[in-house]
Amino acid sequence: MIKRNSFSDMEQRNSEKVGAQMETLVLVGGGHAHLYVIKNLKSSTKARLQVILISTMDKQYYSGMASGSLEGYYSEDDMSVDLMDYCKKHQVKFIKNTVISFNPDSKYVLLSDGSTVAYHYVSFNVGSITKTNLSIKDSNCFFVKPLTSIYDIRTKIMDLCENHNRVNIIKIVVVGTGAAGIEIGLAAKTLAESKQMKVNLTFVGASAEFINGLQTQPKTTRIKTYRIWQDINWELKDPGIEINRNKILLQSGKKIQFDISILATGVSGSELFKQSGTKTDDNHFMVVNEYLQNVRYSTVFGAGDCVSFDTPFNVPKNGVYAIKEAKVLVKNLELFISGKPLIAFKPQKHFLSIIALQEGLAILVYNHFSWVGKMPFHIKEWIDRNYMKRLKR
Ligand SMILES: Cc1cc2nc3c(=O)[nH]c(=O)nc-3n(C[C@H](O)[C@H](O)[C@H](O)COP(=O)(O)OP(=O)(O)OC[C@H]3O[C@@H](n4cnc5c(N)ncnc54)[C@H](O)[C@@H]3O)c2cc1C
Repeated sequence: MIKRNSFSDMEQRNSEKVGAQMETLVLVGGGHAHLYVIKNLKSSTKARLQVILISTMDKQYYSGMASGSLEGYYSEDDMSVDLMDYCKKHQVKFIKNTVISFNPDSKYVLLSDGSTVAYHYVSFNVGSITKTNLSIKDSNCFFVKPLTSIYDIRTKIMDLCENHNRVNIIKIVVVGTGAAGIEIGLAAKTLAESKQMKVNLTFVGASAEFINGLQTQPKTTRIKTYRIWQDINWELKDPGIEINRNKILLQSGKKIQFDISILATGVSGSELFKQSGTKTDDNHFMVVNEYLQNVRYSTVFGAGDCVSFDTPFNVPKNGVYAIKEAKVLVKNLELFISGKPLIAFKPQKHFLSIIALQEGLAILVYNHFSWVGKMPFHIKEWIDRNYMKRLKR
């Protein structure tokens, strides 16, 4: 049986009532897809619809610039969009709050302060959270999500650099060897080295996929990146199981000491979907069909990391797909509201991935093609700066 959220009478009274005439579209989460929707909804649609964005923070942070921001290469302004200004510019009402649940039958979302916002149509673009099954009893352990934690990581590293008690070595452990873990780990190392510290960086990973991939690269690539990898420790195929008192315990029984540990162990979905009785997959992502529409409730849509597809295809959780989905999401919201047939999202098979390394180098990967050098780094910077420039225009 589907679990329904129960809302008290008081919560109902607190509810922001849907206007008698105008219909309301509530956008939950200021992720990539919703920023696109806000900018690209037709003005005729906005004229007949009240559009409300509800998002946890008053800024939206762009992950493409996360490692650069950790190093201090990008400022907070470069990396973020002010949601209040953005919404004002595009005639959308902004509410800074967190949606903790929603009731798809009675059509309202429940906010963390107990109030509710009623909707005719709702769309979710709330991203993902770091998934981990490690037992963590340590305040020197940081997650890569939400992205604002990179500022906490930066503060911690700066603090370690200033208070190093004459031992000028900082021990960093990164758990997770996917793109985010590699980028953030190397950026943390770069930051500490820029403060004249020596860094002992260890990557802990359940699989050896990344390092195996490096070993199959052409010789020129391996030579170019040799200096980056030579003094890094790899603990692969030996997952971490516990983090306690500045030590990580691996499955093999090995313990590694650290000054700071960073977790980039994959992602899972928001608890809010589970609370709402809507269909979710094993990782708590809301299940949608190829129209980006909830498989149980036709007035509920979603895009980006927070959704999982009930189709023969599923797509990787990254910003590239969130932006591709956004183009279909905005059309389908408009089509649905006007009672017209929806269009299907057809994901591209391959996507361009550029991982920033150190010393101005990056790895560009597209399907079986890969390229390491300074040029991929410049391409990444150009893509990232342009994305933010276009968003703020
Ligand atoms: C370090 C790092 C680097 C990355 N680099 C890249 C990269 O270079 N390229 C790439 O394609 N992908 C990259 N990714 C992945 C990328 O960050 C995500 O796939 C992408 O951000 C997903 O976008 P989204 O629109 O789904 O959600 P997000 O960008 O995560 O946005 C979600 C928004 O919803 C808000 N929110 C969350 N919960 C609630 C709630 N309950 N109520 C209201 N608001 C809520 C959040 O505050 C946030 O504003 C990286 C990830 C990390 C961690």
